[in-house]
Amino acid sequence: MLKKFSDYNFRDLKVLVRVDYNVPLNDNYEIQDTTRIDESLPTIRKIIDDGGMPILMSHLGRPKGIYEEKYSLKHLVDYLSDNIQAPVVFAQDCVEDWAMDAMDLCPKGGIVLLENLRFHKEEEKGDLGFALSLSQLGDFYVNDAFGTAHRAHASTAIIAQFFKGKCSFGFLIEKELEALSKILDQPERPMVAILGGAKVSDKLGVIERLLQITDVLIIGGGMAYSFLASQNYSVGRSLIESDKLDIFLNLLNSSKKLGKKIILPVDSVCNNEFSENGDIRVFEHEFGIKEGYMGLDIGPSSIELFIQEIKKAKTILWNGPMGVFEFNRFRTGTETIAKAVVAATEFGAYSVVGGGDSVSAVSQVGLKDRISYVSTGGGAMLKFIEGRKLPGIEAIKENA
Ligand code: AMP
Repeated sequence: MLKKFSDYNFRDLKVLVRVDYNVPLNDNYEIQDTTRIDESLPTIRKIIDDGGMPILMSHLGRPKGIYEEKYSLKHLVDYLSDNIQAPVVFAQDCVEDWAMDAMDLCPKGGIVLLENLRFHKEEEKGDLGFALSLSQLGDFYVNDAFGTAHRAHASTAIIAQFFKGKCSFGFLIEKELEALSKILDQPERPMVAILGGAKVSDKLGVIERLLQITDVLIIGGGMAYSFLASQNYSVGRSLIESDKLDIFLNLLNSSKKLGKKIILPVDSVCNNEFSENGDIRVFEHEFGIKEGYMGLDIGPSSIELFIQEIKKAKTILWNGPMGVFEFNRFRTGTETIAKAVVAATEFGAYSVVGGGDSVSAVSQVGLKDRISYVSTGGGAMLKFIEGRKLPGIEAIKENA
């Protein structure tokens, strides 16, 4: 049985915390969504209140192993300091003298934030030597980066072996695991899972697992067209993975055998070009999407059909947008589903939403606080649902 994070006392300890500060920044380096930082604050606050020193490490974006101004974590210092109300000393590199100097400079009650780990290519390679040099900065290791828990990187997994008996999850990962287990282990029924987004093949394992657990599986977004095409519906130029249609048809057939409902959209808002301009029209799938047009959002009858199922749910899991919600004219489906999930939650359902796009959809309509649990991990959440072992989670379980 793993010890809880709240059971530790970090007095006088240097605590190396892997956070996930991979937040979107605009061209002026302003943070566009602070969720991941906000969600890390309780863990940091506990360490400070215990009398320990949090040394935060994270990646940001996809630098190629060298410094790039736009990916520097220094852009996060002011927000972090203001919101945790503690001084933050920034280390211009995550290893050696820079990190050591920052720790020396850090006053009692302060925090050290290390520069982007991915400015070293060894991070993503899971390099043992790099993990060892990071480990030398702390007396204790906490993993609170759920968003990167599915990666076996130096700071997320490899490092844990240097902290035998001295590592733990933070409050955020504990919360994530609790929310997902609640959904997967004994969901209150009926359970409705909603999947959207672009590619089905990325989510095949998740669909298979969800068919075992959920009562109803709603599929929207670009994914839906592959399922429709596998049943010979005309989908025009909609996004499909034509080489795997037989797999999608098999999934539909096996859902029937399991007595599970897979609900697909019955109409789409389509366009004759991938943009907000063009000739936008609704087509009913029964009669086919006209040649030359592509489905970019679920249509009004689909919205109605999906809402009827969501209304009945006692447990809801949602990942992936219902359309190309980045375009204003194709965001109605995603926004309306977000509102329906909130309404069901207010009616007593337990709801979990995860994945960058669906989370920004609920944020944009100002409804994030009215979902039971908003996960900070998209890929990690899907891998967890699929039943795969996440290296960042396993490493703590093995070494704690
Ligand atoms: P994913 O990363 O697989 O969750 O996919 C998210 C992306 O799917 C978003 O950028 C959406 O714009 C895109 N998407 C959703 N619906 C469609 C659609 N009907 N056609 C093309 N792309 C879509």
